[in-house]
Amino acid sequence: MTRYVYQFCDGNKDMKDLLGGKGANLSEMTKIGLPVPPGITITTEACKRFYEKGQKIDSDLEKEICENLEKLEEKMGKKLGDKENPLLLSVRSGAPISMPGMMDTILNLGLNDESVKGFSKAISNERTAYDSYRRLIQMFGDVVMKIPSEKFEEVLDDIKKSNGYKDDTELTIDDLKEVVDRYKTIFKENAGIDFPQDSRKQMMMAVEAVFSSWENDRAITYRNINGIPHTLGTAVNIQSMVFGNMGNDSATGVLFTRNPATGAKGLYGEFLVNAQGEDVVAGIRTPQFIDEMENVFLDKYREIEEVAQKLEKHYKDMQDVEFTIEKGKLYMLQTRNGKRTGAAAVNIAVDMVEEGFIDKKTAVLRVEPLSVKQLLHPAFDEVELQKAKKITKGLAASPGAAYGKIYFTSEEVVAAAERGENAILVRTETSPEDIDGMSKAKGFLTARGGMTSHAAVVARQFGKSCISGCSELVVNEKAKKFSVKGVEYKEGDYISLDGNTGCIYEGKIQTKEAEITGNLNKLLTWADEFRRLEIWTNVDKAKDLERALEFGAEGIGLCRTEHMFFGEDRIKYVRRMILTDDIEEEMKVLDKLFEFQKKDFYNLFKHMDGRQVIIRLLDMPLHEFLPVRDKDIEALSKEMNKDFDELKHKVSSLKEFNPMLGHRGCRLGMTNPEIYRMQARAIITAVTELEKELNITLRPQIMIPLVGIEEEIASIRKNVTEVADEIIERENSKLVYEVGTMIEIPRAALMADKIAKHADFFSFGTNDLTQMTFGFSRDDADAYLKSYVKQCVLEISPFESIDTEGVGKLMDIAVRLGRETNPKLHIGICGEHGGDPKSIQFCDKIGLDYVSCSPFLVPVARLAAAQAAIKNN
Ligand code: PEP
Ligand code: MG
Repeated sequence: MTRYVYQFCDGNKDMKDLLGGKGANLSEMTKIGLPVPPGITITTEACKRFYEKGQKIDSDLEKEICENLEKLEEKMGKKLGDKENPLLLSVRSGAPISMPGMMDTILNLGLNDESVKGFSKAISNERTAYDSYRRLIQMFGDVVMKIPSEKFEEVLDDIKKSNGYKDDTELTIDDLKEVVDRYKTIFKENAGIDFPQDSRKQMMMAVEAVFSSWENDRAITYRNINGIPHTLGTAVNIQSMVFGNMGNDSATGVLFTRNPATGAKGLYGEFLVNAQGEDVVAGIRTPQFIDEMENVFLDKYREIEEVAQKLEKHYKDMQDVEFTIEKGKLYMLQTRNGKRTGAAAVNIAVDMVEEGFIDKKTAVLRVEPLSVKQLLHPAFDEVELQKAKKITKGLAASPGAAYGKIYFTSEEVVAAAERGENAILVRTETSPEDIDGMSKAKGFLTARGGMTSHAAVVARQFGKSCISGCSELVVNEKAKKFSVKGVEYKEGDYISLDGNTGCIYEGKIQTKEAEITGNLNKLLTWADEFRRLEIWTNVDKAKDLERALEFGAEGIGLCRTEHMFFGEDRIKYVRRMILTDDIEEEMKVLDKLFEFQKKDFYNLFKHMDGRQVIIRLLDMPLHEFLPVRDKDIEALSKEMNKDFDELKHKVSSLKEFNPMLGHRGCRLGMTNPEIYRMQARAIITAVTELEKELNITLRPQIMIPLVGIEEEIASIRKNVTEVADEIIERENSKLVYEVGTMIEIPRAALMADKIAKHADFFSFGTNDLTQMTFGFSRDDADAYLKSYVKQCVLEISPFESIDTEGVGKLMDIAVRLGRETNPKLHIGICGEHGGDPKSIQFCDKIGLDYVSCSPFLVPVARLAAAQAAIKNN
C-alpha cells in the first residue's frame, strides 16, 4: 500500500521527490539530532492524488493524515484544539525543487475561541495567545478563503492609529482581543462562513489550500521560467509550532552559513526579537543583523554557530536556515542549500575543498558555468545598483555592465566618444551602417532582434554589453527619444545596461573591471584537469584575442574575416569590390584589401605560437555590406567615378529577398574566385613573414563557409591551395596549413562523407545550421520562439541551446560520416552554442575535439567542458 504520510523521524534528505525539499531536510535534521519541532510530511504523491480526485482529499487520505496527527499529539503530549493546552501547528508547502515564496503557509493552526484561552494559560502569556489567534485568522482568510490581506491590515492600522501606536508590539491584550473580533467579522463578510472553530477542519482546509497553491498563477509562472516540471506536485509539512513571539527571551531569524553574495565565511542573516517568522519575511519590522545577536543572546548565538557548522559539515554545502528561539530554547525550522551569486559559488566551492569538505571534482560540479560570467565582465557596483531605478528588461544578449548617455545614430555616438563621453547606442534594431558607432559605444540597446541579431552578435564579438529584443521600448530615432510605458528618455540622458540580466536602469551606475585571479583561477585550473574538449575562441581583433588568451583560450576556432571590413575606412573598399564591373578596378581594390588583411592576420597570428588558428574566408551576406542611404551611395559613386543613378541601380539589383539564403559564403567564392585567392595570399604571406621574423611555429587553417555541395569545397580548395603552395614554395617555407569547411547547411551534414574527402577539418556553424534545419530566421525568430517556449512546444530557443534531437542528429551524422572518410578529421563547433553549457555537454558526447566561443565565454566553456566530461563518463 502506498504510504502518503511520514513522521519527520521516518524520512531523510534523499527523499526530496517524495517529501519535498523542506520535508526531506526537516527529517534529516531530526535524524542528526538537531532540535526540530516534531511534525509530519504529506507526500507529493498525495498531492497528485488530490488532483486526481478533483482537488479533494478523499476519506482514505484523510484517515492516514489523522492517524499520523494522533501520533504527533502523543509525542507532544498535547491535542489539537484542546481547551486546556492545545497543540498548535504550522502548515507549509514544500516542493521537490525549491520555489521560494511561490506557495502558501499557515501558522498557529488549532486556535479557536476556546483553545486560545487554554493556550494563553498554558504559556502564561495572554498577549502572545491573542496575537497568534489574530494572525491565524488573517493567514487562513488569505490563503484558504482568498480574502485580501489588506482588509485585515486596515483594521490593525486603524487600531494602531486611534491609539497612537507605531509598532505592533505596542498593542495591548484588549486591543488584540478587539482585533480578533473585527477579523472574525471581516472573515464572515468575505468568506460567507464563520471562521471554523473545529481545529481538524481548519487543518484539512489548510492542507487542501496548500495543495491547491501548486497551481496558483505565480507558481505556474515560476515553474515555466525555471523549467520545473508541472507534474512534480508539492508536499505539505505539518509541524508543531514554536513561538518566537513569547517575549524578549524569544526570537526568530533566517541566516546563511556563509555570505551568499561574496561567499565569505561566517554567519550572514538577520533576526527579530519577540516576533514570528512572517514578520521577518514581510518586512513589517526591521530586523537586526545576526552578528548583533552576540550582544542579545550570546549563548544562543554560539549554539547557532555550532548548528551552522554541523549542517555545513553534514550537507557539505552552504546552508540557508530558518530558526526560532522560544523562551531561550533554539529550534531549527528549515535548512536548504543556499542560493548564491557567481562570485560566492566560486569562493565557497574552492574554500570547501581547502577546508576538506569536498574534493576538486565536486567543486567543479558545484558552480553553474554561466554564473562565472558575472565575474568576468565589468559589473555594476552592488551598492549603487540597489539604489538604481529599473526602466524595463529585454534579452541579456551580451554580458557586461555599461552606463552612458543615449544616442540614436552611429554618427552621434562617434561624436560623443570623441568628446570623451560614454555613449549607449539605442535603436529599433542595428544595421551594418551603425558599425562605427557600435565600435565606439559602451553598449547597445535595441527594441527588436533576438540572441543572434546583428546587435547581439556584434556585441559579443566586441565584448560589449547588449540588450536586444526589448519589447517595451518604443524608439523614435527621428525625435531622438525612446519611451517605456509612457516615460520618455531623450538624447543625452544617462542610462545603465546590465547585459548579464537584461535589465535597463535610469542614470549612471558605476562599473568595475574583472580579471581571472584567486579562487576563480584555482577552480578553472581544476576544471582543466577534468575536461576532454579543448576550448578555442571566436575573435577577429588582436585586442579581443589577448583577452581570450588571458581567459585560457587554446586556439582560434573562428575568425570572421568579413568583420575585419566593418570599419568606416574599409567597408568602402568592400563595397567597391562588390559593385564594380571593371576587372582592373576589382584588382586594385583587392590589392588594397590584401594590405588590410595581411596586417590583421599578422596581428592575430603573432600571439599564436604553436596554436591552431582557423581563418574563415569571407562570408558576407550582401545586405550587411551594401550601402542603404543615398548619402553613402553618392560618396561611393564619387570614389568610383561612377554615375549615382547607375550605382544606385546596381545596388538595388543586388538586393536579395532572402539574404541569409543568398549570395554569401562560398557562393561568392565560386562566382568571384579572386576574393578568396586574395585572402589565401594574405594569410600565408602574414604567416611566412612572422615565422621568419619571430621564429615561431604557426598552424593556419583556412575555412570555407556555407558549403553544401562537394564540388564547392573541391573547387575552392584547389583555388586557395594553388595560391598558398606557390607562396610557400617561393618563400622556401616548411609551413603546414590545412583547409576545411564549416558544416552549417543541413545538406553538408548529410553529405559529410563526400565533403570530408576535401577537408582536413569540420567546424559546426550551428547558428546557420539551426536556422536552416528549422527554417527559423536567426535574425527575428525570437518573437515567436518565446511563445513556443511558453506553450512548451520547445523547451528553450534552439538558437540558445542546441536542439540535440534534430540539429544534434545532423551533427552526429556529420561526425560519423566525416570520420569514416577521414579518421584524422578534427571537428569543433563555432556557432554561438559553443559557449552554452548544455550544448557543450552534447558536443563532448558526440566526440567533438573543441568548442569555440567568444572571449568572455572561454572560462564558462572551460568549466562546462569539465562538467560535461565528468557527467558523460
Ligand atoms: C554559424 O553559422 O554558426 C557561424 C558561426 O557563422 P556565422 O554566425 O558567421 O554565420
Ligand atoms: Mg554561418
